[in-house]
Amino acid sequence: MEKNNIAILGSTGSIGTQALDVAREFPDKFEISVLTASNNADTLIQQALEFNPKLVVIVSEVAYTKVKDALAHTSIKVLSGEEALVEAVQLEEIDVVLNAIVGSAGLRPTVKAITCGKDIALANKETLVVSGELIMRLVKQHNVKMLPVDSEHSAIFQCLVGEPSPIEKIYLTASGGPFRGWSREQLANVGKAQALKHPNWSMGAKITIDSASLMNKGLEVIEAKWLFELDINQIDVIVHPQSIVHSIVQFEDGSMKAQMGLPDMKLPIQYALTYPQRYKNTFKRFDFMDYGNLTFEKPDLNTFRNLQLAFDALAEGGNRCCVLNAANEIAVAAFLEDKVSFLGMSNILEETLCHIKNTNNLSLDDYIAYDKESRIVARDLINKIKQIN
Ligand code: NAD
Ligand code: MG
Repeated sequence: MEKNNIAILGSTGSIGTQALDVAREFPDKFEISVLTASNNADTLIQQALEFNPKLVVIVSEVAYTKVKDALAHTSIKVLSGEEALVEAVQLEEIDVVLNAIVGSAGLRPTVKAITCGKDIALANKETLVVSGELIMRLVKQHNVKMLPVDSEHSAIFQCLVGEPSPIEKIYLTASGGPFRGWSREQLANVGKAQALKHPNWSMGAKITIDSASLMNKGLEVIEAKWLFELDINQIDVIVHPQSIVHSIVQFEDGSMKAQMGLPDMKLPIQYALTYPQRYKNTFKRFDFMDYGNLTFEKPDLNTFRNLQLAFDALAEGGNRCCVLNAANEIAVAAFLEDKVSFLGMSNILEETLCHIKNTNNLSLDDYIAYDKESRIVARDLINKIKQIN
């Protein structure tokens, strides 16, 4: 069998390194042709020496010389800068681009990969949040596969295999994060150390904060809308603290299918890379005796306002989700630098949305421009808070 040729964007991150764990599990099934990172030169060098890709990209120009020198004795090509990501996905031999970049920085490489006819394994949910309508149109036009890596979306995708009938409704499960059940008073003074402690998943910093604020579930609602062509009222969020049921599809006869498993991102990553096959692996198996109770509860939209903001942005359409996402990226970065409080993040999102007028019929360049403008507005708002303090 011919090997599946993969480009991994964001290979040094949480998803990227787990994707390489999957690749290690099946050395005769996958060929890694591209690895990219923002600025973690040491990890990228190590990965390149192990997997011998054709090309590596280190976005940071400061880190470029280090990577270049370390790989000088190999045949691996080294490029630097944002534009190199767009170049990298075009390599002839690539079958699938696994986009594990965090944030809207993943948008342009995804678009280029689709237009070059590559299948996409998408962890970078922000791509669909910013411009889901455009992306899914391109996916159809270029007849490529969009394979979800996000565990909830992989769950729904798996439930839909072999189903010719329409979806009535989906239930996206949410762990509830470290602050499930907390009041706004209790949340007023939480710091980043508390917010970075996720009960079930070990992930990159940005998505961990998004999980604590329920923004992650908001982004996933938007992601699900575009991936599965749903109306907003067909998407429900249900809190399931054990993270074993990864999501549920309800069909029009009332029957429901759920996909279950241990909370381990290697599973959805593997499925995206082997679909429609399932390869036998050695990963840990679920044991019912470890989970006597699987419980479900309603999300608290009054306390965790970001989830409601995401539903609202999706309902309004136009540039709203793009603006929301950009403002959130800036707010999370500021929270991680102690420049904005945990609850203050929602105010930044709301105020950024107020500052920027909604418009429709957007091109890729329009989305990129709104993303940029929203970041500037959100940063200004944060600087103003600092001056008041
Ligand atoms: P991470 O921060 O651990 O890794 C991000 C990767 O992207 C790194 O390799 C980094 O070098 C690279 N990167 C960061 N900024 C970049 C930029 N501006 N340009 C190019 N490359 C850049 O993040 P992660 O937790 O692996 O998440 C990656 C994506 O997958 C996110 O969109 C996240 O929402 C999604 N996701 C992650 C998980 C998880 O378990 N970690 C689960 C579901 C979805
Ligand atoms: Mg998820």
